[in-house]
Amino acid sequence: GGVTASRTSRRELAERMVADTARAHRGELAVPRIVTSLNGHILAKYHADPAFRAIFDEADLVDVDGMPLVFATRLLCREPLRERVATTDFIHDACAAAAPAGVRFFFLGAKPGVAERAADAFRALYPGLIIAGTRDGYFADAEAPAIVRQIVDAGTDILWLGLGVPKQEQFAIEYRERLAGLAWIRTCGGLFDHYGG
Ligand code: UDP
Repeated sequence: GGVTASRTSRRELAERMVADTARAHRGELAVPRIVTSLNGHILAKYHADPAFRAIFDEADLVDVDGMPLVFATRLLCREPLRERVATTDFIHDACAAAAPAGVRFFFLGAKPGVAERAADAFRALYPGLIIAGTRDGYFADAEAPAIVRQIVDAGTDILWLGLGVPKQEQFAIEYRERLAGLAWIRTCGGLFDHYGG
C-alpha cells in the first residue's frame, strides 16, 4: 500500500476545481471531494500510524507539497511528479480561476481575525473573487454543526480548511455528508497565517 499522489499541475488543479464546481451545481457530486497535501513529514506519519492512514485514505486527491518528495519521485518513479504544489502558491491559481467563474470560497481556520484578513488580501488581489464567509478555527465541538450550516448557507463551493493536521482531515471526513452541495473541501494547514497573520 501507499499514497497515490496527484501529478496534476497547479493550473490543471485550478481548472479541475472550476469543473468540479459546475458538476456540484448540476448535482453530479454526491459529496464534496476532499483535496489534501502530502509532504515528507506527513508521509512518515502515514506509514507509522494506522489511524492517521485511515483518515488520509479518505482523500480523493492528494497533491505533493515538498520538493524532496518531488525529487524522490524523479529518481524512483517511471512517471515522476512535475512540480511541487504548495498550497501557498496554489491559492493564487485557485483565486485567478475562481474570480471569473464565480466559484465561492469559505475560509475556516486560524486564530480569530486571521482568515478574514487573508480573505481581504485575496479580494484586493483578485477583483470579483467571492469569499462568502470566514471563521476562526478555535471552536468547541458543539459549535461545529452550526459552523457547517453557516458554510452551506453561504453558498460555498470550495471550503478552505486550515485547522492543522489531523484536525482538518477529521473535520473534513466527519462533516463531508452535511457539506453536500460543495465541490471541494481543500485542507490548507497554516495558509491563513501566511497571508493574514
Ligand atoms: N488551528 C486551528 N484550530 C486548532 C488548531 C490549529 O485553526 O484547533 C490552525 C492554526 O492556527 C494554524 C493552522 O491550524 O493556522 C495549523 O497550521 P500549521 O501549518 O502550523 O500546522 P500543520 O498543517 O503543519 O499541522
